[in-house]
Amino acid sequence: MAAQIIDGKAVARSVREQVAREVRARVDRGGRTPGLATILVGDDPASAIYVANKRKACAEVGIADHHRHLPATAGQDEIAAVIEQCNADPEVSGILLQLPVPEGLDGQALTALIRPEKDVDGLTQLSAGRLAQGVPGLRPCTPSGVIELLDRHGVAIEGAEAVVVGRSDLVGKPVAFLLLQRNATVTICHSRTRDLAGVCARADILIAAVGVPRLIGAEHIKPGAAVIDVGMNRLNTDPPTLCGDVDFDAAVEVAGLITPVPGGVGPMTIAMLLRNTVSAAGLQP
Ligand code: NAP
Repeated sequence: MAAQIIDGKAVARSVREQVAREVRARVDRGGRTPGLATILVGDDPASAIYVANKRKACAEVGIADHHRHLPATAGQDEIAAVIEQCNADPEVSGILLQLPVPEGLDGQALTALIRPEKDVDGLTQLSAGRLAQGVPGLRPCTPSGVIELLDRHGVAIEGAEAVVVGRSDLVGKPVAFLLLQRNATVTICHSRTRDLAGVCARADILIAAVGVPRLIGAEHIKPGAAVIDVGMNRLNTDPPTLCGDVDFDAAVEVAGLITPVPGGVGPMTIAMLLRNTVSAAGLQP
């Protein structure tokens, strides 16, 4: 029987509606409106679109916009000063430095300046350490979106065999830690893993975060498994198309539950950013 297909757009919409309700309730109680400072350095068109989408999503749920745009010529100190201003500004609940920053700047060092209580991307080393040690904190958006999709579809995480393919700091490692925190038995695979198909085929929950189009086929999937495809690979077709790390047509015949690409994990990232911004507002003094 073909797998149930997860509608990431619908789940993301529901998260956004929930966030909008929380923002309204907070303001009605006399609390400060949650605010997000997106910091864009330079004029990279892709980064500009990502930031514009995040700002639009904030506006839709009532989160205040504290956007800062710096020229590509801005120096490390100038950007650091803007981050420190945002750290100190009580109207700013969350700070997001859009990466990559222009060449010659140290994006990691700049990101590290963001106070952990405002790190809505969850990507600073402090936030990563908190996640690794199971200490409360803001978690990275895409990995949180993966967990949200599993939860909303009633997938039992505790005790499950979970396999994560990919070990990046952005997706693979944090998603593995989130699953571990929820008491899954977690295996992380990467480019040197021997017998990838054999390891993956043990998984009740299989997460693909690789960046290799259709790497995961039917032979990698345990019948009935939940398969979450984080991959977003642009194919040079005419017109250009997007495909995941999972061979969807083959996998859908074996899995129990599966995300499509597009329309699976993708829409969740901004939804979880909005949720993190409201959580961050609750962490401010
Ligand atoms: P990344 O930093 O390039 O990491 C890729 C990981 O996959 C690495 O750990 C690498 O192993 C592993 N890998 C590569 N080839 C492999 C193979 N043949 N077999 C097993 N493992 C292999 O990528 P990323 O930033 O984590 O992103 C992964 C994918 O998710 C990309 O398609 C990206 O576009 C997508 N993504 C989507 C969203 C979203 O919102 N939906 C957000 C972020 C990323 P090594 O460590 O050994 O090199």
